[in-house]
Amino acid sequence: MATSASRPSPHAQNAVHETAGGEGIIKSPEQVVDVVEAHASHHRIPDRIEWPDANRVAVNLTVDFDAMLLRKLLDEPPMQLGKGEFGGRVGVWRLLELFRRHNVSATFFVPGRICELYPDAVRQAAADGHEVADHMWEHRVPADYEIERAHLVRTADALAATTGIRPIGSRSWHDADLMSELGYLYNSHDAADDRPHFVTTDSGTELVSLPFHYTWDDAMYFNFAWLNTENSAQRMADSDRVLELWWDAFQQQYKVGGYLNLCLHPEFSGRSLRIDMLDELIRRMKSFDGVWFSTCADVARHMLGAGRS
Ligand SMILES: [Zn+2]
Repeated sequence: MATSASRPSPHAQNAVHETAGGEGIIKSPEQVVDVVEAHASHHRIPDRIEWPDANRVAVNLTVDFDAMLLRKLLDEPPMQLGKGEFGGRVGVWRLLELFRRHNVSATFFVPGRICELYPDAVRQAAADGHEVADHMWEHRVPADYEIERAHLVRTADALAATTGIRPIGSRSWHDADLMSELGYLYNSHDAADDRPHFVTTDSGTELVSLPFHYTWDDAMYFNFAWLNTENSAQRMADSDRVLELWWDAFQQQYKVGGYLNLCLHPEFSGRSLRIDMLDELIRRMKSFDGVWFSTCADVARHMLGAGRS
């Protein structure tokens, strides 16, 4: 297939250039207000969410099974590819064992290509009762609409062939109309709110948005991203410090009856010390009453059943 430029990631939005006259990039206040209002009009956020069985908070443990795909797309050197390979060969199995030990459900966001690279791990995730959902074909969304459609279909076919279940969710920049047309119910890559909500496109399509935030993304703390790539700001952090940050975030959401979507990567969180940290985090969460450890699909279906008036 001919190569095609991919849709730029949100990180690239900072790459603005100053104009020669020095008058700035924002020409008028209305320009900013219009953007904010247009954004807000596409997000419908419920005032309050009642969780099933009188649970107080919903926790989605999510695993982005990128392995070495993103590293390859960013054209990083072999050492970085090897780091990703660790995730597919070792880290993902440690996460599966951790979830099994705690008897909690998770959602694995899996690029279609991973079904070719690590089919046993993808199969095991489904066999353990976890949800397996779309994470693009090779961790990018092609700019061409028809190629994008082909990638989305090909990934769904690969996940279904490997697990026996067609995905209904995604973590991607895929077009919402296209996702809806192909039977998807939710996306989990937005951060318009910290509660699950609904996103409406210009054509009226509505998808559930299960927000995650970079604060709850292990890559932001545990990935020494290669210099000169678009995510080069990521750095190493003390796992004890991250445990406290995430524990505080959980307690805050517990207090308000909210939602927590923790984003883990096998290549980062699969390291022994961090598995121990996650073990402690899950143990603490389980010590509270009314914590709904669910898959993203569970929450999306709940929102569609209970979130619409
Ligand atoms: Zn990813």
